[in-house]
Amino acid sequence: MGAPRLHFHLRHKLQSFLLDLDERFAEYLGPEEFCLYNMCNNHFFYDRKPFEQFLEGTSSEQLVIVTDPPFGCRTELISHTLRSLRKLHNQINRLPCTPLSIFWIYPYYSANHIRQEMPELEMCDYRINYTNHLRYTNVGKQSRFCGSPVRLFTNVPLRLLKLPLEGYKYCHKCDCYTAKENQHCNRCEKCPSVNGQTYKHCASCDACVKPNYVHCTNCRRCTQKEGHNCSFYQTKQHCWLCGQKGHIETKCPNFQKRKTNYSKGCLLCGKRNHREKRCAYRTKYFRELCFMNETTIQCL
Ligand SMILES: [Zn+2]
Ligand SMILES: [Zn+2]
Ligand SMILES: [Zn+2]
Ligand SMILES: [Zn+2]
Ligand SMILES: [Zn+2]
Ligand SMILES: [Zn+2]
Repeated sequence: MGAPRLHFHLRHKLQSFLLDLDERFAEYLGPEEFCLYNMCNNHFFYDRKPFEQFLEGTSSEQLVIVTDPPFGCRTELISHTLRSLRKLHNQINRLPCTPLSIFWIYPYYSANHIRQEMPELEMCDYRINYTNHLRYTNVGKQSRFCGSPVRLFTNVPLRLLKLPLEGYKYCHKCDCYTAKENQHCNRCEKCPSVNGQTYKHCASCDACVKPNYVHCTNCRRCTQKEGHNCSFYQTKQHCWLCGQKGHIETKCPNFQKRKTNYSKGCLLCGKRNHREKRCAYRTKYFRELCFMNETTIQCL
């Protein structure tokens, strides 16, 4: 889907089908391997039959969808299309609801949007460079501080993706490859960096944060120092007690009723070595339901 160079690379080695919005490909590629297609609304401009024949008889283990949408595209439209293609594949092959392997190429700063739509996708640290796209490459003058911001989001287990050792390392604790600069944090139990910088663990936040962040005791969080305005910043935060957006823990309207007397350290137990997210007493006050990687919190 929108990844023509990959199709040209694969077409003589594997079975591959290109869905793309550029009509010029029809001059080179026959209907058995190309269909003019808009991935924003899952619209096939030509006959869809050849594509259906391509899907027919491929099991979900044999089929991979790679999509490289323009970065302005709305993630909810792309994910809707991905779900529609899965449904089509499942219908044609008379399968029960079976996931297909997805590789979605997109910038790391859209990770939250993608997670909202498809929580089953995880981000791989691999930086994608475009040879024909000056802004998104790490070679040449225009290179960005930490290399390309473009990453791979996938539902394939990350431990199956072997990355080159130049720039990446295998993390035994995470059991997957991560960027060299992405140092494992034992407290957070992960390689925490999303942007390729080396994060530092802040004991007051009890979380790993970007290296240039400074801790604000008022907001109880690390953030950019420049232009920081406590009250504005707090309206953009997710509460570590109730999980809702718009306030921080000290102002949580859902928790005030059963106020504990702790004002320093963890508000639930008073200890200084962790924050409310990781408090052993959470279950006394909240019920957490996890479904498809998404957690909903109920105050008891
Ligand atoms: Zn790790
Ligand atoms: Zn950490
Ligand atoms: Zn902090
Ligand atoms: Zn602040
Ligand atoms: Zn709250
Ligand atoms: Zn606690």
